[in-house]
Amino acid sequence: MTVLQISSYAAGSWVAPGGGARAVASAITGQPLAQAGNDALDVQAMLAYARDIGGPALRALTFHDRARMLKALAQALSDHKQALYDLSFDTGATQKDHLIDIDGGIGTMFVFASKGRREMPDGQVYLDGDVEQLSRNGSFLGQHICTPLHGVAIHINAYNFPVWGMLEKLAPTLLAGVPAIVKPATSSCYVTERAVRIMLDSAILPEGALQLVSGGLGDMLDHLGAQDVVSFTGSATTALKLRQTPAIVQNAVRFVAEQDSLNASILGPDAAPGTPEFDLFIKEAHREMTTKAGQKCTAIRRILTPSAHVEAVIEALSTCLADTTIGDPRLEATDMGALISNAQKADILAKADIIGQEAERVFGDPNTFDGNPGAFLSPILFHCPDPDRARRVHDTEAFGPVSTIMGYSDLDHAAALANRGGGSLVTSLVTNEAAIAARLVHGVAAWNGRLYINNRTSMQESTGHGSPLPHMVHGGPGRAGGGEEMGGIRGVKHYMQRTAVQASPEILSAIGKIWVPGASEIKSPAHPFTRSFDELEIGETLHTPARTVTLDDIEHFAQFTGDTFYAHMDDAAAKRNPFFTGRVAHGYLLLSFAAGLFVQPDEGPVLANTGLDALRFMQPVSAGDSIKVRLTVKQKTRRNAEYGEVRWHVTLTNQNDEKVAEYELLTMNSIAAQPV
Ligand code: NAP
Repeated sequence: MTVLQISSYAAGSWVAPGGGARAVASAITGQPLAQAGNDALDVQAMLAYARDIGGPALRALTFHDRARMLKALAQALSDHKQALYDLSFDTGATQKDHLIDIDGGIGTMFVFASKGRREMPDGQVYLDGDVEQLSRNGSFLGQHICTPLHGVAIHINAYNFPVWGMLEKLAPTLLAGVPAIVKPATSSCYVTERAVRIMLDSAILPEGALQLVSGGLGDMLDHLGAQDVVSFTGSATTALKLRQTPAIVQNAVRFVAEQDSLNASILGPDAAPGTPEFDLFIKEAHREMTTKAGQKCTAIRRILTPSAHVEAVIEALSTCLADTTIGDPRLEATDMGALISNAQKADILAKADIIGQEAERVFGDPNTFDGNPGAFLSPILFHCPDPDRARRVHDTEAFGPVSTIMGYSDLDHAAALANRGGGSLVTSLVTNEAAIAARLVHGVAAWNGRLYINNRTSMQESTGHGSPLPHMVHGGPGRAGGGEEMGGIRGVKHYMQRTAVQASPEILSAIGKIWVPGASEIKSPAHPFTRSFDELEIGETLHTPARTVTLDDIEHFAQFTGDTFYAHMDDAAAKRNPFFTGRVAHGYLLLSFAAGLFVQPDEGPVLANTGLDALRFMQPVSAGDSIKVRLTVKQKTRRNAEYGEVRWHVTLTNQNDEKVAEYELLTMNSIAAQPV
């Protein structure tokens, strides 16, 4: 069999393996499969290529441009995913495992593409939070903004997810506008290399946006500076070593670490054998032990059960494990494939021996596959009879199909045991009692990046204890590395600098491309509802005439809608209310009158009213008062070939120019003057 030559992509060229290349074996056969790495890689040229060519090209694009790019990349990978599946079997992964790594990675990229367009502006500055009022009259305001770092992101990934591990970091990085150099773990880098080739061949990315190091990273980390980021996933030992690199410490280089984790799953005291929750707990524990042969950072390492149910859990889980077909991952009948390598298998067995000093092995024979050249291993289940005195079961990660059952006496005890992991990526809880869940959340949330709570109501649609989702934060405190990835747009901010900007409304509007109250208004040349999305300018404003509100209006609205709340109907009762001096108009009546004042009724570019945000009623309106409206284009976003969303700032004032209501109105507007 020919040995695959796994290249790096450096400063615009593919570089074949050379001196110092590392050998990679197939997980299934143990035979040589590939070689990767080249000591002559010019890491400084790679850094310069990213910073000087990739960075400026990405920063010239808007968040929406970059989101569209991510979507196209995800599509290109999806079109070629069979090639990735074919290669990935040799890592020991089954087709089901590919769905998590390859389809999961592509799905993550699609989610960031969609979130980028929905939640970020079609501009180059991301506004982080609301405007802060720093002065009495509003002439000096504050706004936090996020802009892309001017450096490069170095992504160092673990071997277990060669595709997802890359894409969950790459998507937020590119969306932020920062170039990346990806360094996959050598033992599965042949899958990552193919995925990088697919992306580069698609010619979607600007030059310099993506490079790849297959094999060793050389002294790249010694050349990092203040605008660079390292995103690391792997063992705590490697993280500790890398984060102490002098250049990283001296230049305060951001170092995001996702490390190993002694995750726990807790069976609620209500979830006795015979309940749907008990069966669910066993199913999830079994899945976490066997998916990817237990090589998941989020896998359940510690199974916490009420002491009374320890025996039942051992029995039920052992039955499921005995029913697990282990073997060639390419075969459909196989439930669990191989570990990545025999070296990894030896490491797991050594760790299992450590756990075995404090716990009894209740399922699995470590010698089952002795003599097989592949890295196959039976699942191994331990029971720890004294988890309070034990230490190693709480700190030893055997990164394979190995888990330890331990009993607890009450909820506080369960929380204390779970927290002895020293900080975890995830803890799950299976209970049908909301009060139990609430109590445990208080006990364990501070020690976990994610809590996964499941029961009969949610089990059909739940996403799995071990599945990090692009929408939700992945990472955990302490032992888990103290890092945070994904979590929607939060994950993009790891690659941007947050800056507090203090200035006048006019200047803040110009920076954020969003109208800020107090900034100057642009008089609309025609009614703004007759102007297309592209014609409307930020700050364009309509002032309506006033309309007087009468008692008849209030009566009519009350009878018509059925809203006869006393404050609108009964003068004496309204007076007894601390907020009113007598009968007041309905807030919704005011909103309706406002629409009547600002709407232009003809068919035109406004296609639909899609919502209303941040509504506040600030001052009561009584019969005899008059209201008028100021309607201003605050923001334009989510433009496609046909229409885009306009956010209008709406202020209602009374005859004394006091604000009575304020809100933001959303409309979808055609990009042409007439609907297309
Ligand atoms: P590892 O041995 O710590 O390696 C992780 C990465 O660091 C690999 O790419 C490795 O490259 C690289 N590396 C090692 N030494 C380096 C050095 N001196 N300079 C630059 N890079 C270096 O971990 P692994 O065996 O690949 O993965 C298993 C571990 O990762 C487990 O402990 C697991 O819990 C953890 N993990 C955590 C998460 C999470 O999200 N928290 C996810 C997956 C895995 P080489 O392969 O070339 O040595």
